[in-house]
Amino acid sequence: MAEAPYKRTYKHAKGRGSEQTVVCSLCGKKVPKYKTFTKKKGFFITDPSVKREVSDSNLLLPRKKIYICPQCARHKKISQPGRSRKSRAKK
Ligand SMILES: [Zn+2]
Repeated sequence: MAEAPYKRTYKHAKGRGSEQTVVCSLCGKKVPKYKTFTKKKGFFITDPSVKREVSDSNLLLPRKKIYICPQCARHKKISQPGRSRKSRAKK
């Protein structure tokens, strides 16, 4: 999960004019891929005793990489406002 001074790599695609767009998995909006936050969705079992029991079916668990646009990331508190804004809104 990205935290307050998260690194944003605004890396553009190599080819000119053809930015790869992805659909935000929360709002369904099309956003350039380099602007999105990636998040891995899936079940991760941490309890070792439970993990042993389901080890056979472990591979079948759905793991998905989801893309979240900056707006949703802010709204869902995945990302936080930058440092400068935080200091401005000091109590
Ligand atoms: Zn979105």
